[in-house]
Amino acid sequence: MHIPFNKPFLTGKEAHYLYQSVYSGKISGNGMFTKKCQEFFENKYGFKKCLLATSCTDALEMAALLCNIREGDEVIVPSYTFVSSALAFVREGAKIVFADSGKDNPNLDAERLEKLITSRTKVIVPVHYAGVACDMDKIMALAERYHLLVVEDSAQSIDSYYKGRPLGSIGHLAAFSFHETKNIISGEGGLLVVNDERFIRRAEIIWEKGTNRSEFFRGEVNKYGWVDTGSSFLPSEIIAAFLFAQLENLDMIQNKRKKLWNRYYKGLKELEEKGMLRLPMIPAYATNNAHMFYVVCRNLAERSGLIRFLKEQDILAVFHYLSLHKSAYYTSKYEGEELPECDHYADCLVRLPMFYELEEEQIDRVVETMKDYFFTL
Ligand SMILES: *Cc1c(COP(=O)(O)O)cnc(C)c1O
Repeated sequence: MHIPFNKPFLTGKEAHYLYQSVYSGKISGNGMFTKKCQEFFENKYGFKKCLLATSCTDALEMAALLCNIREGDEVIVPSYTFVSSALAFVREGAKIVFADSGKDNPNLDAERLEKLITSRTKVIVPVHYAGVACDMDKIMALAERYHLLVVEDSAQSIDSYYKGRPLGSIGHLAAFSFHETKNIISGEGGLLVVNDERFIRRAEIIWEKGTNRSEFFRGEVNKYGWVDTGSSFLPSEIIAAFLFAQLENLDMIQNKRKKLWNRYYKGLKELEEKGMLRLPMIPAYATNNAHMFYVVCRNLAERSGLIRFLKEQDILAVFHYLSLHKSAYYTSKYEGEELPECDHYADCLVRLPMFYELEEEQIDRVVETMKDYFFTL
């Protein structure tokens, strides 16, 4: 039986809310379901202001506009991340200073962050890889000392915490993703979180194509017009309706995913103890939101062999993230140092099947198949 890498999970309420939104007579953005979703996040996680976006990439683009990026400003981004973490700032003219990953996990190494800061640095973009927090106290202290802004790329980190504080609530701004590969989905979708009140008014304007339409809808002004830059960043009510059905079931989804994650961890512990691979390391300050289960192989050859062996047994495991500083688009512009830890994860990390409807027996089969592979190396 084939085990896919991902399978989008439907809670059952999506079609009901979709129907409701479609027949409500209001299907463009910023309606009832958009408000319900935004309030869900504001109430549950204490985010100051939430704006739904059409993707996390769009939310990051809004963040780049809010940070007022100018040609030549430097933005520090880990090299081991998805393209959008860097691209959103590159579009505004930023030069990206790529940070290396830590030895323990793929997050940017906060210990080696300070030496990347120059007089041109404007923003740090910590990415909470696999939903596991970066060392935010260290990052925020540096940001304060050097007057920098922090934009959390929280695409993978819904419902995860740093020393008890929700991820996405710590930086000045944060961006979440509801792409169908994430824990909570709407096909494509995202969220901009504004924690620094100075940015709230402008965020709403950028969200509404550079107009003050949000203020007009609230009755604060008697007409609205073009007041700033922006774009059409808000999703339709149809997307928000789908998303709300997912949010209502957040705890159920998270509990199930964590159970599956723990089963992988227990099952694969023996391989780690024998030194054949590394399991995810979650620092004491972080929680696990079971966004992904990955293992780190010893080298590229063993990883390629593992992915091939699993595929022969009809199990789909994948690698991802080629180092961004070596990407076709950025390599000629990159002036920084070698990033060996990042390259190591790019060569050696494998993601195993992880989705709500994955069954415990299927996890056991993946674990047994991996043992077959490593014990016959
Ligand atoms: C998924 C992801 C994104 C992009 O999210 P979209 O909603 O697809 O735009 C950005 N950054 C990281 C770290 C991601 O995992």
